[in-house]
Amino acid sequence: MSYRTGFGYDIHKLVKGRKLFIGGVQIPYKLGLLGHSDADVLLHSISDAILGAACLDDIGIHFPNTDKKYKDISSLLILKKSYELMKSRGYEVENIDCTIIAQEPKIMPYRKEMIKNISKILNTSSINIKATTSEGIGPIGKKEGIACYSVALLSKQ
Ligand code: ZN
Repeated sequence: MSYRTGFGYDIHKLVKGRKLFIGGVQIPYKLGLLGHSDADVLLHSISDAILGAACLDDIGIHFPNTDKKYKDISSLLILKKSYELMKSRGYEVENIDCTIIAQEPKIMPYRKEMIKNISKILNTSSINIKATTSEGIGPIGKKEGIACYSVALLSKQ
């Protein structure tokens, strides 16, 4: 068995007039994340961690924000396609660990539903999602955006 780790990071700006999607869950909030797709910061960072571990570049290369076919799509599709690319290289996901950094809204009430969505796509129950605030410091602390860090461990027979 061989193992590979990958790291992913993403950040999106919070703006008025957008729905907030994190981990494929629509969270009721006065602001939403701005981006070409649904701007799901958690799913983007996980996708990048998986692609990174498999040495498959990043989501910016596979899903360019200049391509109209990715406009406003659910990032569950981006995660699914990233997983399929990884699978085509013979890898399985061992586990995923993530930290979402958001001053608002509260993430924890939606955690289980996010894990369910991600587990279904990645074919593993070893998904961990943590959330923290930025203690009011910096742009995230001032509710200007939400960021997420993820690591992935992949295995190959
Ligand atoms: Zn993103």
